[in-house]
Amino acid sequence: MHIGIDDTDSVKNGCTTYLAALLTEKLTQMNVQFQDYPTLIRLNPNVPWKTRGNGAICLRFQHQTHLTNDIKQLTLNLLEENSQTNNKGTNPGIVFYQHEQIPPVLTTFSRQTETSIVTIEHAVKLIRKIGAEALGYNTCRGIIGALAAIGETLTDDYTYELIAYRTPANWGTKRCVDKESIFNMDRLLQPNVFNNIDTEKNRVIITPRGPDPILFGIRGESADVVKQAFKLVKPLEPVERWVIFRSNQGTDAHLTYVPSINKLKCYNSIVLKAVVSKDPKIIPVRHVLFSIKDDFGEVDCIAYEPTGDLRRAARELVIGDYVEVTGAVKRATKNKSLTLNLEKINVISLNQKLVQHNPFCPDCQKRLKSMGKNQGFRCNWCSKKFVDLKKQEHALPRALKQGVYVASPRSQRHLTKPSRRLGQEKNDTPVVFIKDWYWP
Ligand code: ZN
Repeated sequence: MHIGIDDTDSVKNGCTTYLAALLTEKLTQMNVQFQDYPTLIRLNPNVPWKTRGNGAICLRFQHQTHLTNDIKQLTLNLLEENSQTNNKGTNPGIVFYQHEQIPPVLTTFSRQTETSIVTIEHAVKLIRKIGAEALGYNTCRGIIGALAAIGETLTDDYTYELIAYRTPANWGTKRCVDKESIFNMDRLLQPNVFNNIDTEKNRVIITPRGPDPILFGIRGESADVVKQAFKLVKPLEPVERWVIFRSNQGTDAHLTYVPSINKLKCYNSIVLKAVVSKDPKIIPVRHVLFSIKDDFGEVDCIAYEPTGDLRRAARELVIGDYVEVTGAVKRATKNKSLTLNLEKINVISLNQKLVQHNPFCPDCQKRLKSMGKNQGFRCNWCSKKFVDLKKQEHALPRALKQGVYVASPRSQRHLTKPSRRLGQEKNDTPVVFIKDWYWP
């Protein structure tokens, strides 16, 4: 059986992964054989109605036939006890699928939910077609993510996350984890763990801030390494339970390559090559704005202030630089066309950064004064005029180098591939079950 669940968390509390952790424990008591780690699938981060992380989960296991109904009932009970079904904006969905193989049409659907906008009608049609069962609350939008989680089998690149949960008594209070132990863990296990700390701000980012049940989540390349990492981190409050998830986080699964600016679609995250057409300028709250163009159009790009290195790189661009940008396509407003919110810039080639100077006086070797546009120059020392001299151009050294600049970890999307993962991508790598991948 495959169980997909999505959107059980409201803005205030709850967390779909916590439900997966509870379900894992209960299913163990029913002697099921897990076929995979629970999977945590992040969907299109630009969906306007998402709750926080826009993540769905899936559990895959074999069970004794007579337990089918008990398992479904158990899942519904857990969801109703633990989700915010009466909360406006929470639209939980559950999907049960009883076939062993995932049909290709479902895999395609999952890919669409990661990269674009999918309708509930589309999901319901597919559920009927493949013979799955679904249950939704409120607008039922959670069914889309629940179905997508089942169809995403993570056969290409994937990562792991070990999530440790707090005891309910502590939910909503300040999280207590020894900061030094997290820095130490990251030092020892890099590059096989990622997004634990923001080196720029010297800040821990494995602990969320909200009132949800998560104490911390450690992301890495293997189940083994996230478990090692867990042993190195010292929590200063009780851990109620923990589970290792397999995930599409940090894999760039949300990106679509587009050949030209006229092919940009709202709410997609895209990768596009173009030439810088307007110099960067700083706009209020220190964001950096510049434009790029190709033969088919021109589009504005914004690097937001918290993106750190990415923003600093954007500020150094000049007209004529050839770049590959990665970012979310934001909807047009009344006096503005589409805008790209940047996640990455790959600087492919640098143009010259030219500055103009007045020429020197041939006699005094002093810098001449301009007499006005196209009026020539005058020397303040010998008072001679030079109407035929032209401004001189110099190329300034560029502070920017070719290469990829990624948003700082604190502002990265869950799906964004961090620099540390470059070269570590998996491809059809078999899943290895480690002993004890959840507790209790
Ligand atoms: Zn002179």
